[in-house]
Amino acid sequence: MLPNLPFDPAHVLIGGTWRATAETLPLSNPSTGEQIGQIAKGTAAEIDAAVAAAQAARAGDWGQFTAAERGRVLTRIGQLVPEHVDLLTTLEALDVGKPLTQARADAIALARYCEFYGGAADKVHGETIPYLDGYTVYTLREPHGVTGHIVPWNYPMQIIGRSVGAALAMGNACVLKPAEDACLTALMFAHLAQEAGLPAGVLNVVPGLGAEAGAALSAHPGIQHLSFTGSVATGAAVQIAAGANVVPVTLELGGKSPQLVFDDADLDAALPFLVNAGLQNAGQTCSAASRILVQRGVLDEVTNRMAAAYHTKRVGPADSDPDIGPLINATQKARVLGYLDLAADLPLIASAPLPGDLPAGGHYVQPSLYGPVPPTHALAQQEVFGPVQVIIPFETEEQALQIANGTDYGLVASVWSRDGARQMRLAKALRSGQVFLNNYGAGGGAELPFGGTGKSGHGREKGFEALYGFSSLKTVAAFHG
Ligand code: NAD
Repeated sequence: MLPNLPFDPAHVLIGGTWRATAETLPLSNPSTGEQIGQIAKGTAAEIDAAVAAAQAARAGDWGQFTAAERGRVLTRIGQLVPEHVDLLTTLEALDVGKPLTQARADAIALARYCEFYGGAADKVHGETIPYLDGYTVYTLREPHGVTGHIVPWNYPMQIIGRSVGAALAMGNACVLKPAEDACLTALMFAHLAQEAGLPAGVLNVVPGLGAEAGAALSAHPGIQHLSFTGSVATGAAVQIAAGANVVPVTLELGGKSPQLVFDDADLDAALPFLVNAGLQNAGQTCSAASRILVQRGVLDEVTNRMAAAYHTKRVGPADSDPDIGPLINATQKARVLGYLDLAADLPLIASAPLPGDLPAGGHYVQPSLYGPVPPTHALAQQEVFGPVQVIIPFETEEQALQIANGTDYGLVASVWSRDGARQMRLAKALRSGQVFLNNYGAGGGAELPFGGTGKSGHGREKGFEALYGFSSLKTVAAFHG
C-alpha cells in the first residue's frame, strides 16, 4: 500500500498545477508484483502543455532570477530532501524494489546534487579573450531555454538530481518525463521543489509511456536541449527525433564495465568492490561492474573469494532491506533469465540461493557468477542489466586492455594494481568515460563528470561539466578602436 502522499500519484505537474490525465497506468510493487496504485498516463497533449508552461516560466520571473537566487532555491530543495528522506526511501523501495539502504542512499545523493548545483549556480562564468587591437572579446554562458529530461527507472532520484539540478542551476526550465515504472520520487521531488519556492512552470513532470510521452518530448520543437538516460536503442531513437529539430542531446546509455585485477592487486581492498559493484540494485546499474578481468596468478583466489561472497548475499523484498532486491518488472526478469539460458554452456562459479519464502509475484532472479568466460561470449559482450557477473582470465597487461576495450561500450573501468606506471598507462588507454584506480565508483560523487564513449553515449553530466552542457556559449566581440 502507498503511504499518505502530499500529491496525487495519478497527476502530472504542469505550470505549477497538479492535474489528472484522461487515462492512468497501473503502479506495481516489484517485490510482490501487486498493483498498489495508479499513475498518470501523460500524452503528447500534456507534453505540449508542459513545454508551453516551461517557456512561459523562462519568459517570466525565472528568467529574471540571478544565478545566486537560483542557487538558493536549489539549496533549499537540497535541505528539504533529507527532511523527507524516510518517505522518499519508502517510495523508491515500493516503486523500484530497491532495498531500503540503497534507496536511502539515492535520496541522500539527490540532496547532495541539489546542494552541489545550488552552490555552483553562481560560479559559472565566461572568459575574456585576447584579440586584435581595438577589440574586447568575452563569452557569456546562457541557459538553453527549455530542457527535456527523459529518465529511466533504475536510479530516478540520482539521475533527476544530476540532470534537472544542473539544468535549473543554469536557469533552464525543465520538462521531466520519468519512467513509467518509477515516477513516485520524481513527483515527490517536484512537490519539494514547489515547497522550496521554485516558481510555477520551471519544473514540469509528465509521467507516461516512453513511446507516447517520451517520444513527444524528444520530438518537440519547443525544447532546446534533451537529456536522455536509458537504453541504447531508445537513445538512438530520441537522438534522431531531437535531431530533426537540431536539438542537442546528452545520451547516458548502457555499459559492460570491466574491473581489471592484476597479480599485484590488494585483493582485500578489491573484493568488496568486485562483487558489490556488480550486484548493487540487482545489477540494474548502467555502470555495473559486469566483467571481472583477472590475471592468471590470482585467478583461483579471486574466483574462490567472489564465490564465497556470493553465498553470503541475501535476496529479498525491498522492505526487508536485503543485499539484492527484485528486478523492476516481469519483462526485465524474462530478459535476464534469457541471458542465463544463453549461459548454459558456461561454468557457473556461484549463485546466491533464492529463499523459499519470497513473495510469489515478485521479480526475483538468482544472482549468478560465471567463469572462466571467453571475452567474445554474449554474456561478456552484452548488457544483461541483472545480477550476473562474468570472470574473464588474462595473462598480460596488453591482453587485459584489449579485452577491456573489446565491447561496444565505454562507461566505467577500474584497475586494481600496486604498479603506478601500469595505473597511468591504463588510465590513458582504457576506452571509458571514467577510470578508477584501486577503487570502483569513488562513491559516485556529484563533483565527478560522468558519461560514456561508444554506445555508452556522449555528453557529460555531474560536476561542472554538466553546467557547461546545460548552457550555451555566446561570444561577444566589441570594437571600440
Ligand atoms: P529505456 O530506454 O527503455 O527507457 C528509458 C526512458 O526512456 C524511460 O523514461 C522510457 O519511458 C523512455 N522511453 C522509452 N521509449 C521511448 C521513446 N520511443 N521515445 C522517448 N522516450 C522513450 O531504458 P530502461 O530499460 O528504462 O533503462 C535501462 C537502461 O538505461 C540500461 O541500458 C541502462 O544501462 C541505462 N542507464 C544508463 C545510465 C547512464 O547514466 N549511462 C543510467 C541509468 C540507466
